[in-house]
Amino acid sequence: MRTPCAAPPLDPERFRPDFPILGRMVHEGVPLVYLDNAATSQRPRQVIEAMTDAYERHYANVHRGIHTLSAEIDELYEGAREKVRAFINAPRDASNDDNPATTQEVIFTSGATHSINLVARSWGDANVRPGDEILVTEMEHHSNLVPWYQLAQRTGAVVRHIPLTDDGLLQLDSLDRLLTKRTRLVAVSAVSNVLGTINPVREIIRRAHDAGAVVLVDAAQSAPHQPTDVQAMDCDFLAFSGHKMLGPSGVGVLYGKRDLLEAMPPFMGGGGMISEVTLEGFRPLYLPGKFEAGTPPIVPAVALSAAIDYLGAVGLEAIAAHERLLTQRTHEVLESVGGLRIIGPAPEHKAGIVSFVFASGRPSGHDVAQFLDRYGIAVRTGHHCTMPLHKRFGVSATVRASFYLYNTLAEVDKLGEALAAAKRAPFSAFLSAARSE
Ligand code: PMP
Repeated sequence: MRTPCAAPPLDPERFRPDFPILGRMVHEGVPLVYLDNAATSQRPRQVIEAMTDAYERHYANVHRGIHTLSAEIDELYEGAREKVRAFINAPRDASNDDNPATTQEVIFTSGATHSINLVARSWGDANVRPGDEILVTEMEHHSNLVPWYQLAQRTGAVVRHIPLTDDGLLQLDSLDRLLTKRTRLVAVSAVSNVLGTINPVREIIRRAHDAGAVVLVDAAQSAPHQPTDVQAMDCDFLAFSGHKMLGPSGVGVLYGKRDLLEAMPPFMGGGGMISEVTLEGFRPLYLPGKFEAGTPPIVPAVALSAAIDYLGAVGLEAIAAHERLLTQRTHEVLESVGGLRIIGPAPEHKAGIVSFVFASGRPSGHDVAQFLDRYGIAVRTGHHCTMPLHKRFGVSATVRASFYLYNTLAEVDKLGEALAAAKRAPFSAFLSAARSE
């Protein structure tokens, strides 16, 4: 039996009309239930209109010209940078003769993956030596693992992992052993994209700093869903993507502390990142342009600014509270279906992400996702770019339901009903039913 829930602090029905795609049907008349937000969110009309407006009225390249459109797009693009700065509470810089930019610590990239690779290449190659250690966790997304493995291959460093409890929490007591004099960098996600675990990043950062290490926070799954304050966190680097937070794909953010960014060599070379090029060589531009070689994601950045406005109007605290309710209800619903194993901690330790498998191994994650699709329910199945994490829990794939501000408790109940039907359905029968259509 389900326990009664308190009234939701945020009414998702208020926001749903802003998202055109949520009104569509799938499979002839079945309403879409979009529970794949950890992969990518949907966009409200306000964000789509910001993109259209930029293309229809203001589009030109940035930082290139003095004509009217050029000035307008510069203002929109740099305005977006300032919006991101405030969103993560990065410091505002005083402009001076050497650098007129007032937002020097926010770099636009193509996404979290690009941001992390930038740090691994630029900071990593300059600072990591043979025998040095890079500390990650067993729950990291491949985007926060592979760049460090590549760095280790290039430099002769060693990658170590913070292990997990069977509940999907970090074993923090291992930090005493794992943080050593050789640890140069700790790279940790604020929220796991599979377990949903909210990691104690502030404590990890404090302890890493005590050990003399620099910390990168992968905020791909946290920045869209809870307030981010890089100064309170005291992280050295922070990475996230626009497409998971109501913005467009193709734009992401790297925040870095100014002294670190200033000391780092440019990651990519090209137009836009130089102050002078001669036949002998080049001098890089000041921050943040130094790290934005080539034409940046101009319109996606402008639309990300509109997404931040939207999130700000709803309120990130309210979004986080709403997702806690959805997660709590999902756990209750899955328990009442029975036969399911949730991979990850209890709801009080997690954000709006719930991954699970049928404990018997049948139906498989792939079959479950295909079955749910008949009910209009979009979930993700597979390893979600976390193969080591899946190995840790002895499964090759999980089914993941992940939420956002527009998801409703009724949608969670629908997920429960569809899973109960999947459990009842003879395995071969429902597969062939799915195939026959
Ligand atoms: N880190 C985490 C925790 C993620 O969930 C993702 C996206 N699934 C990424 C990094 C990479 O983000 P992107 O693909 O937008 O670069």
